[in-house]
Amino acid sequence: MFKVVIQASVDCALVLAGVFALVFNAGPTQRPALVAEATIASTTATPSISAPQATDPTTGPAGDVTGSIPSPDQTPAAASVPAATPLADDRSCSGNPNALGVSRVVEVDTTGGPGFGGEHFKGMDFLRPGEVVLTFDDGPWPNNTPKVLAALARHCTKAIFFPIGLHATYDPDLLKQVAAAGHTVGSHTWCHQNLSKTKGRCLINGKAQGVEYTFKDEIEKGISAVSWSLGAPIAPFFRFPGLQQPPEALAYLGTRNIAVFSTDLDSFDFKMRRPEQVRQSVIAKLKKHGKGIILMHDFQHVTADSIGQILDDLKAGGYKVVQMRPRQELKSLPEYDAIVMKGLKPVNVSGRPVESVVRTVGGN
Ligand SMILES: [Zn+2]
Repeated sequence: MFKVVIQASVDCALVLAGVFALVFNAGPTQRPALVAEATIASTTATPSISAPQATDPTTGPAGDVTGSIPSPDQTPAAASVPAATPLADDRSCSGNPNALGVSRVVEVDTTGGPGFGGEHFKGMDFLRPGEVVLTFDDGPWPNNTPKVLAALARHCTKAIFFPIGLHATYDPDLLKQVAAAGHTVGSHTWCHQNLSKTKGRCLINGKAQGVEYTFKDEIEKGISAVSWSLGAPIAPFFRFPGLQQPPEALAYLGTRNIAVFSTDLDSFDFKMRRPEQVRQSVIAKLKKHGKGIILMHDFQHVTADSIGQILDDLKAGGYKVVQMRPRQELKSLPEYDAIVMKGLKPVNVSGRPVESVVRTVGGN
């Protein structure tokens, strides 16, 4: 059953107060065992990460729609990291006692579109005290995403990435690096639009232009673009831009058997300028909540510059990382694959085949 409540909701790229948000209440008919514990990963390999070149340095990011900087009084208070507690099961990084590793791998049955993250969803909290799920939105982005990958690799730990479709098409190899490192790749729409609305702006050929869209177009084009960039099916995991979750879009995702990810701990990293602010924000909120799905952005350089220290703090504080994997793969829709491909292919303006345009008239 669904219940509508008024709730302040803030996410990666938008600061919104007093918006309507949906809270999913798990009733007695709730499906059992949507999350199942799986085999603990046992890799100790550290993927080699190479920073790709920016493919379009003249254009801004599709997801950067705020640029707001917090005033000093918004700066989070200094965090005190909980006392170090040795982990008993660093099995995923056995050769490195200082690494977080992965304490638990869970497999998610996304049938019906379950929702995760206490900011919007209740009844699907499977995390134990001290457990966290790391999530990164709005990438992939040159320099920043590789830094995040390197920090995660140093700790032999895993995260969920929610890439923007448009960003993924800029440099497919970068997204492939994310998947190759063993992380879970979901999606985060085509152009980071507010799905509660139907008009917005999107970069087209490097210029921000007004566009009209439907929530289905944004969701499905994002899925097709990320799948194309990855060269493989993605996870049926989705996060709404700005955590704006209109009920009709939630219902649609349910029909597609796509799980929706809100958050338990929003880092607000996109509002911060100094890496230390991000570190303090995450650790202070984690100390308060004790566990949760953490929302960060591999798109943000301030996060790329702080994530290594944050992971060190998590290890020192005795926190454990849980990896979420889908039971099923997500198939993109052919009609949206075609739309994305059409936008990516060079256009033959004349429509004439090359043979009728260029012919050999001399030599061999
Ligand atoms: Zn976002």
